[in-house]
Amino acid sequence: MKDTLKKMSTNLQDVVQYTLDIHGGYILMNELIGKQIKIEWSGEVICNCGRIMKKFYRSGFCYQCFYDSPLASQSIFKPELCTAHLGIEERDLEWEKTFQLAPHYVYLANSSGIKVGITRGTQGVIRWMDQGASQAILLAEVPNRRFSGDIEVSLKRFVADVTNWRKMLSGTPDSVDLVKMKEKLSEHVPEELKQYILADNTVTEIKYPVTQFPKKIKSVKLEKNPIIEGELLGIKGQYLLLDGDRVFNIRSHEGFISKFSYQEIVQGRLF
Ligand SMILES: [Zn+2]
Repeated sequence: MKDTLKKMSTNLQDVVQYTLDIHGGYILMNELIGKQIKIEWSGEVICNCGRIMKKFYRSGFCYQCFYDSPLASQSIFKPELCTAHLGIEERDLEWEKTFQLAPHYVYLANSSGIKVGITRGTQGVIRWMDQGASQAILLAEVPNRRFSGDIEVSLKRFVADVTNWRKMLSGTPDSVDLVKMKEKLSEHVPEELKQYILADNTVTEIKYPVTQFPKKIKSVKLEKNPIIEGELLGIKGQYLLLDGDRVFNIRSHEGFISKFSYQEIVQGRLF
């Protein structure tokens, strides 16, 4: 549906370029920094299956999809529970085979301190930009999702597997020697999976279009404030940074049927 919020698409350049696909067009979000933006929620959300309702049941799904769809199965949240490589069905074996039996990567990223994560196919850089990482390196390439989950579990004992978003939004983290981190952590990869560790030690550096980081972060949500407006001060990860130390996570509002608009600010007045 063209009037729903979706996560922004990203393009790695000197600074990340963000594009929002809404109302049948593409909005270059970097150009709106310094302008007044406005998001008005209609009061309804739409699930992937097309069902429209007042609110999602859980995790961005309607009741039925949450319990039936392979997109909401346990292994989506816990890759170490994947079983398609053994031919064992969770909810829909064909779908699970297509999704799980494909090259996956394990990476290290620095967004708010070091974290380990996994990503499918060529999604790496996109995943890092979505998480607001400032540096990232690939650690291993494996033939299926389960193996990446197994490596992730073995490394979680030493590094985080989630981003501390408050810290990520409070500034740029100190630079870390990811090549050295990779060497050290590689020792803890299970023996039978060590063959998948990548020799390539390229570190990707990522910068975000931020003119001012929030000091005391206030996260704003459409359920509480159906109209959110203010000056856009920057974008990091999938967060819009607004005046008044407010941050808006556009990704956690995917499926919200809304209107997005903006105005120029000239000498403190709106045009
Ligand atoms: Zn649904």
